[in-house]
Amino acid sequence: MAKVTVVGSINMDMVTSTSVFPKQGETVKGESFITMPGGKGANQAVAAARLGAEVNIIGRVGDDPFGKILLDGLVEEGIDVSNVEPVTGCSTGIASIILSDQDNRIIVTSGANDYVTVDFINQFEEVLAGSDIVVLQLEIPLDAVERTLEICNKHKTKVILNPAPAERIPTEVMALATYITPNETEYDMLFQDHSETPDHSLIVTEGKAGVSWHEHGVKKHIAGHRVKAVDTTGAGDTFNGALAASLAKGLDLSQSISYANAAAALSVQTLGAQSGMPTNDQVIQQLE
Ligand code: ATP
Repeated sequence: MAKVTVVGSINMDMVTSTSVFPKQGETVKGESFITMPGGKGANQAVAAARLGAEVNIIGRVGDDPFGKILLDGLVEEGIDVSNVEPVTGCSTGIASIILSDQDNRIIVTSGANDYVTVDFINQFEEVLAGSDIVVLQLEIPLDAVERTLEICNKHKTKVILNPAPAERIPTEVMALATYITPNETEYDMLFQDHSETPDHSLIVTEGKAGVSWHEHGVKKHIAGHRVKAVDTTGAGDTFNGALAASLAKGLDLSQSISYANAAAALSVQTLGAQSGMPTNDQVIQQLE
């Protein structure tokens, strides 16, 4: 089976819906509350696992109830969590989200995700070396991202670097990735000076417009599937997880981008980041 390793964040999203935002010092009544598993690392791992890849995740949770709930959820998706080590006395990563019709406000607390350190990553050299593909995002410390890239380069393991959330990262770090997958905002931030663009490895997701990339020096584009979007949260995560699953299976870059574009289009038709992530059969049907 195609082996995908995700190195990244594991969060609990706590979503409160309200018709009014509280002003400073004010308390208002909320309308509903829901907790949902999240974190870009965990989301991308779930996307790849639903599509049939053998997935393991390297990361950290806190020693609180959220950590246990999130790990149980990943195991239910068939993901190997033996490389997730709980951090004693630390909270699990949390996104506190306040939603209303007009606006949303989000506070992300990294918590245990900050303990994905260089030393922590160094324990997993063998796992990274034995993977068909490794997937990284930017919700863990940047030096751990860099160390993962260095180990993968040493062992010639392919790496997808999804540079999200948008953050400027050194060109030398990006150069270590096999594929870089920004959305348009992240692309603008990373490549303000477009002369630095590493054409060979750049895959830009463009929301409902689809995906643009370079292959053998030729610019390519695939249109987005025309679907009724209900919630686009997690579209990028589904795209990255699906791209990893497909490349790990041995499909070529164009085929894998087409596959991931279809998987991501399916994911936006359901509310929630992980709940709409499709199976392989659903993607094949979408592509017919
Ligand atoms: P998010 O942050 O919402 O998870 P993103 O900003 O990282 O997403 P996008 O470029 O918006 O990433 O979307 C990723 C991919 O998902 C697109 O390239 C496309 O394949 C698919 N996609 C997103 N929105 C739509 C849509 N409305 N209709 C069809 N496909 C979509």
